[in-house]
Amino acid sequence: MGSRQVTAWHGKNITVAGLGVSGISAARALAGLGAVVTVVDGGDSEGHRARAAELEAAGVRVRLADAQTLPEGTELVVTSPGWKPDSPLFAAAAAAGVDVVGDVEIAWLLRGPDAAPWLAITGTNGKTTTTQMLASILKAAGLRTAAVGNIGTPIIDVVLGEEQYDVLAVELSSYQLHWAPSVRPHSAAVLNLAPDHLDWHGSMEAYAADKGRIYEGNTVACVYNASDKATEDLVVEADVEEGCRAIGFTLGAPGPSMFGVVDGILVDRAFVDNRHKNAQELAEVADVNPPAPHNIANALAAAALARAFGVPPRAVRDGLRDFRPDAHRVSHVDEVGGVTYVDDSKATNTHAAEASLAAFEPVVWIAGGLAKGATFDELVQKAAKRLRGVVLIGADRALIAEALARHAPQVPVVDLGRTDTGAMLAAVREAARLAEPGDTVLLAPACASMDMFTNYGKRGDAFADAVRELAAERA
Ligand code: ADP
Repeated sequence: MGSRQVTAWHGKNITVAGLGVSGISAARALAGLGAVVTVVDGGDSEGHRARAAELEAAGVRVRLADAQTLPEGTELVVTSPGWKPDSPLFAAAAAAGVDVVGDVEIAWLLRGPDAAPWLAITGTNGKTTTTQMLASILKAAGLRTAAVGNIGTPIIDVVLGEEQYDVLAVELSSYQLHWAPSVRPHSAAVLNLAPDHLDWHGSMEAYAADKGRIYEGNTVACVYNASDKATEDLVVEADVEEGCRAIGFTLGAPGPSMFGVVDGILVDRAFVDNRHKNAQELAEVADVNPPAPHNIANALAAAALARAFGVPPRAVRDGLRDFRPDAHRVSHVDEVGGVTYVDDSKATNTHAAEASLAAFEPVVWIAGGLAKGATFDELVQKAAKRLRGVVLIGADRALIAEALARHAPQVPVVDLGRTDTGAMLAAVREAARLAEPGDTVLLAPACASMDMFTNYGKRGDAFADAVRELAAERA
């Protein structure tokens, strides 16, 4: 890192909001650069105190049980991504004329003069998967890279760490983008845009505007989803560097300056000589894990960013072949009695569930949980034809039941009427009863899990355990 940046932080009075993973990383890094850092957090549990003690040993001040008032003398607030923009602390900062930024902004500002460029990814769904696919492709090209941002090692630690990178695959959530005004990726992709987290952003327009920030200052490519016009609109509105191109991806045949699919082959009609006549074959659909439509879209977006960075076609294929998705994302669990069981517990909103339902037919759908204010009419309308049956669990299951009654009255629905953890075994048994050989039983709840489980991972584990139990019963 150049000495210029170090001087800029030395003695600066910084308040870090939130004693979580990113807050701790920011506090340590900034204190290490000589800033005077105070971490504030509303909590005051034993866990908070233990973390506070560790930070205090590293020379950071910590104030617990008060997340609202701005510490005296604060010159900059660094927030954790989850804090809502209308938090009283930020109102106090605004009143005092103090800027509020996030850890991603700090990471960007701390980059040295020869720092690795960022290939950035956002979207309502598919961010983690696409970022990991991209990192896998970049690795296959022999580049030193890591998947960072909303995943993996805190991004400040990566930027300040010993390890040298050629390029970073950066997942950015809408929250992180909101708090990162200076970030200028080499190239970026918005995968899709559907209503989510609107309570945080205040409106769909504000949510979209924050997502759109990812295109600001791109130098080579702004990658958009050709079947999601809202993503293309964001490219049109973005202020990019001269010569930066808009690159679309589609599950159909691509036009010039697009990535798409022709006869089961992923092709590039953007980064080729004479894109009006030529297309470059990259990989087969079968190289994508799993080859579900939404995931092929993710692969095309990752390929577009990799090609924008100059990666050869062969590395796209090898990287896609090497890639294995994280657990609970359309994961094949088992086959019992000719029925395939698939865990997409990560489908915590309707847009994600819609994508995974579109990948299976006929399908017995296990759904329900916390709806977070969502409505289910559109999802049920789109999925109705594929549904063999539905099993409902969780707190807000009545909302889904009502949508099913309206738009798919012919589909058998079993409402378990339960929200206890053990309900998953009952749900799997009911699904098995509804399914016929050749069908798929899909856990894609379209809801958050916290009414019944600690998190979506535990919900998926309960599903897999239940399938194993079913297999044992049938053996
Ligand atoms: P994120 O990081 O954006 O939450 P993940 O890659 O973890 O996304 O995938 C979350 C869930 O979203 C998956 O389990 C799947 O149901 C769904 N999903 C993944 N990619 C897409 C996509 N391109 N479009 C719609 N849904 C998707």
